[in-house]
Amino acid sequence: MLKAFRAWRRERILTRSALDEAQWRAVTGRYSFMRSLEEDDHRRLRDLVVLFLHEKSVVGAGELEVRDEMRIAIAAQACMLILNLGLDWYRGWTEVIVYPDEFLAEYDYVDEDGVAHHVREPMSGESWLTGPVILSWADTEQADSGSGYNVVIHEFAHKLDMLNGDANGFPPLHPEMNRAGWSGAFESAYADFCRRVDGGPADDRRDTLIDPYAAENPAEFFAVFSEAFFEIPRAVRDDYPEVYRQLSAFYRQDPAARLGQQF
Ligand SMILES: [Zn+2]
Repeated sequence: MLKAFRAWRRERILTRSALDEAQWRAVTGRYSFMRSLEEDDHRRLRDLVVLFLHEKSVVGAGELEVRDEMRIAIAAQACMLILNLGLDWYRGWTEVIVYPDEFLAEYDYVDEDGVAHHVREPMSGESWLTGPVILSWADTEQADSGSGYNVVIHEFAHKLDMLNGDANGFPPLHPEMNRAGWSGAFESAYADFCRRVDGGPADDRRDTLIDPYAAENPAEFFAVFSEAFFEIPRAVRDDYPEVYRQLSAFYRQDPAARLGQQF
């Protein structure tokens, strides 16, 4: 009964909150990882975006006026992650806050030696456990530059990771997935990636297209690899095939195969 009600409500929102077709095409046409979607997937993405924008508010901060095309660009990239998962994966929070550029985050923490620190640093994005996603628009505009850098995908990957508590690179897996398989793939790839980034023996210093920030900790590794998985999937598949397989099972998508069909 509840399911039927939700389906009815969903249909109602979809018919009432139409997106402007030309605007939708213009915005999504800018991203190669959306252009490679089959027509059917593209339509489903659009439906998800309508529902996302109905459920979440995307608001400006620091005097930024958020225009419709900005709202659509953020929602469409966020919904790429849940294209085959559903909007429920973004449950428990409602707000996306957008600053014109990097914003200052201020927080306190106590280090291993018991020393308290007060930090003030510029951020391009931030995700709160049960609170908002915060984005810098200047950074959001750098999506699809070929480098794999995508702040929207990054922050929303953290949101998925945090569905089962603090971000730690271990989101809730689907029943058909294997926890040991996930840990094994990510732990060995993380150790290898850290060796590559930190230098070390010449053998370990192989080039990688993936942002070295992934070496920060396992949570950042998952978020950065999610960016690369959607934007430059072949780099992930070629360098870390096991991680690619796990991400593919988690997101229920195969972006490298999709790109292959495009050429
Ligand atoms: Zn992060």
